[in-house]
Amino acid sequence: MANRVVIIGSGIAGLSAAIGLQAQGIEVKLFEKGKGPRTAGVGVNLAPNALWALDRLGIGHLVRQVGKAFNEFIIYSDNGKQISSQPFDFLPDSMYAVHRLDLLRILHDQVKPGTIQYGMEYTSFEQNENGVSVSFADGTQVHADYALFADGAGSDCRTKLRPSAPLRVAKYTCWQGVTSADEPFDNRYLLSETMGPKGRFGICPLANGQIYWYACINGTYNEEQIAKFGVQDLLEHFGEFHAPIPEVIRKTMPQDMVHNDIFDLPAKHKFAFNRILLLGDAAHPITPNLGQGACQALEDAAVLMHLIKCYSDMTLEEVFVLFEKKRLMKIKLLTQIAWSIGNVSQWSNPLFCTLRNLGMQYSPPFLYKQQFKYMSEVR
Ligand SMILES: Cc1cc2nc3c(=O)[nH]c(=O)nc-3n(C[C@H](O)[C@H](O)[C@H](O)COP(=O)(O)OP(=O)(O)OC[C@H]3O[C@@H](n4cnc5c(N)ncnc54)[C@H](O)[C@@H]3O)c2cc1C
Repeated sequence: MANRVVIIGSGIAGLSAAIGLQAQGIEVKLFEKGKGPRTAGVGVNLAPNALWALDRLGIGHLVRQVGKAFNEFIIYSDNGKQISSQPFDFLPDSMYAVHRLDLLRILHDQVKPGTIQYGMEYTSFEQNENGVSVSFADGTQVHADYALFADGAGSDCRTKLRPSAPLRVAKYTCWQGVTSADEPFDNRYLLSETMGPKGRFGICPLANGQIYWYACINGTYNEEQIAKFGVQDLLEHFGEFHAPIPEVIRKTMPQDMVHNDIFDLPAKHKFAFNRILLLGDAAHPITPNLGQGACQALEDAAVLMHLIKCYSDMTLEEVFVLFEKKRLMKIKLLTQIAWSIGNVSQWSNPLFCTLRNLGMQYSPPFLYKQQFKYMSEVR
């Protein structure tokens, strides 16, 4: 297959897809609107399916080196009582917490030099039976045989191709941050999530003595008050949560915190549009309650690479259709599970919270095991 492919977006999806395609001998050009590689970021949890995908792309060992492995996830109530402990020893690999900038750097370094052009914001695209043309804000036009759009949850390409499939906005928003852990590294810093009527607070130790944390707070999309939160506001909100949560917040520098609204695409998933394929959040934004968005982006890249290799007699347009068929069911199911978990986890009625916590405490382990197994397997 002598194909030229344009990729839009140098996030986890775009970079990993570029690695996969180049491994199959395909000529790739990647365009990113940012001025250079990202310089800010927090943490990301990678489940075994992500490590499977990274192994297929030939870089799993590099990510394991910079990640911190976990074999257990603990859930606490806001007063510090342990609700459940979920060991991962039945999974094919550990869970890894990684600094996003480390992951992006590893992906970036595997892409062939000269592939990525920064400062290139696409504004429109067109396709016909001969190929795809993409136009950029600076007036440049690029022609290729195929185009992969990995331009994130707000994808302009998806919005144009699927105007009737709007994003679904969650009724909570999320602050994330990175700070350093106290020495010696002690077991107050385990992979954990704490739930209470005021929201959720997750702690994920990273490999280099840092702590990645996230805080989900009930609030509407674009709610200015929460979006403007600083360390002090978060401390007031989560100040009564058990140790070490207030301390972790207090130690975080304002420049190491980011705020995100939360949304997904609940239905009408479609990834393949003739010579165009959507990947990552552009194709399937998912709420972060399963920690699977980036994992699914990596799965996209590895599955696409595998299909191109196995069906080398097919056109890429035909492979895109196979890709969609293979990926749709898992994406739909995970999107729905993540949405439901988010809603229940953000209950603010203290009675409902107590009942939920009891339910989790006494639910049979096979329930969460099934969920994690499904997530971790790539069919
Ligand atoms: C609070 C929170 C916590 C999360 N935690 C986890 C987790 O623990 N584990 C996990 O697996 N996932 C997690 N996720 C999800 C994960 O962050 C995303 O799924 C993942 O980053 C998506 O990567 P992407 O490459 O598809 O999109 P993005 O990272 O959004 O990248 C899109 C790229 O496209 C570029 N772009 C956009 N428009 C244009 C344009 N017009 N022209 C050129 N370039 C353009 C952007 O600049 C950007 O670089 C979390 C998400 C949130 C919000």
